[in-house]
Amino acid sequence: MASYDVIIIGSGPGGYVSAIRCAQLGLKTACVEGRDTLGGTCLNVGCIPSKALLHATHMLHEAEHNFADMGLKGKTPSVDWDAMLAYKDKTVGQNTGGIEFLFKKNKVDWLKGWGSIPEAGKVKVGDEVHEAKHIIIATGSEPAPLKGVDVDEETVVTSTGALKLKKIPKSLVVIGGGVIGLELGSVYARLGSEVTVVEYLDAITPGQDAEVARQFQKLLTKQGIKFVLGAAVQGVSVKNKKATVSYKMRKDDAEAEITADTVLLATGRRPFTDGLGLSDLGVALSDRGQIEVDGSYKTNVDGIYAIGDAIKGPMLAHKAEDEGMAVAEMLAGQKPHVNYSVIPGVIYTHPEVGSVGETEETLKKAGRAYKVGKFPFLGNARAKANHAGDGFVKILADKETDRILGAHIIGPMAGDLIHEICVAMEFGAAAEDLARTCHAHPTYSEAVREAALACGDGAIHA
Ligand SMILES: Cc1cc2nc3c(=O)[nH]c(=O)nc-3n(C[C@H](O)[C@H](O)[C@H](O)COP(=O)(O)OP(=O)(O)OC[C@H]3O[C@@H](n4cnc5c(N)ncnc54)[C@H](O)[C@@H]3O)c2cc1C
Repeated sequence: MASYDVIIIGSGPGGYVSAIRCAQLGLKTACVEGRDTLGGTCLNVGCIPSKALLHATHMLHEAEHNFADMGLKGKTPSVDWDAMLAYKDKTVGQNTGGIEFLFKKNKVDWLKGWGSIPEAGKVKVGDEVHEAKHIIIATGSEPAPLKGVDVDEETVVTSTGALKLKKIPKSLVVIGGGVIGLELGSVYARLGSEVTVVEYLDAITPGQDAEVARQFQKLLTKQGIKFVLGAAVQGVSVKNKKATVSYKMRKDDAEAEITADTVLLATGRRPFTDGLGLSDLGVALSDRGQIEVDGSYKTNVDGIYAIGDAIKGPMLAHKAEDEGMAVAEMLAGQKPHVNYSVIPGVIYTHPEVGSVGETEETLKKAGRAYKVGKFPFLGNARAKANHAGDGFVKILADKETDRILGAHIIGPMAGDLIHEICVAMEFGAAAEDLARTCHAHPTYSEAVREAALACGDGAIHA
């Protein structure tokens, strides 16, 4: 038994970042992790492996579609699926090993095993009970189930199974047109699978600026992905290693079926708190299973905190990281702040989608007067040179004050470009501030400046 200032349960981006920050701030820290490797969903079966496969398949797409045009002639690469999976696993290993190194460097103890909280101030791992002044729950999330769909992680898979399919399916049905489904759908579409996305709502990527969502769907359709929108999945049956998805169209109850080699269930994730003993402790949960916390990430039980996917808010690695740092700093007596209005969201398809802040829809709903500055990547010299002219940058600014309220980018490197606008928003910038900032030429970021110019007297290259 050991005694700590802080024990964090879960080593995902929320937990490991929090652990490192606690240790940096002089708190004696341990982190409990039940998996064989550190890094949580994000590093093991989420952000990192999916991005490795997106990168590899994007390279294939470039070779197949754009190389010849640039004078790069020769045989298009063929796909060695096992080698691609090995590259993905190697990437994961480098990242999870990196966290282990950082734990050692910062003197964070990794308590290996599944943890529970027998009482406030105590964490049990295996047969050992450790003491802690503060306990931070960072146990993350798991794929949400769907009635009528039994996952076997072979024919009917969650994202976890989709990251290690034994072979590339000829056909794939993705249930759910959200970020995870579209990213993994893109991977397999690029590898030659016939991909159909079945979505309950009438648009993909719920919550996204509607104009961006429409453009995104158009571009994915051009890449060969089919969409069935407004369709409520009733169930999936598996016969002879083929899966049949039955659905009902919401507008007229018409029933239909679609059969595929593989079905990916990607209808969202839910908080994971099993085995912690929260109900015995009396820790309050919302009706969606999220741990209830106040503005300081405190639960209703003294000395127990929670962060990341296990609490409310967007299920994003960087949101979990920010909360992890904030709670550590609070425990060390500092006064940190997470600005929930400036948390970017990125979809790592090609083109990428990056967004932050208000959408046109949320501004209309709030009755706030706004202006739109938009600039197409077709007017950006670098994008044209790089076969990346699809998409646009859209900045939403207050009609009176010009203060930036939100931004939505669909286009090359959108996931990186969005951060310039995040920083501007953190500083309460006006669109004019961005527009008057010199941007290097030729860069994609000039499109951001042009969209900011379009909020004022007009873009130059449109
Ligand atoms: C396919 C996929 C792609 C994604 N891509 C992105 C992306 O590109 N960008 C992004 O921002 N987000 C992405 N996400 C979401 C992101 O992974 C999560 O938001 C993030 O991992 C949440 O971090 P967390 O620290 O709250 O929890 P998690 O990362 O889920 O980590 C929780 C950890 O706690 C451990 N644990 C749970 N209970 C216990 C216990 N009792 N004892 C010990 N250990 C325990 C678990 O084993 C796990 O390792 C993706 C998710 C998926 C599934």
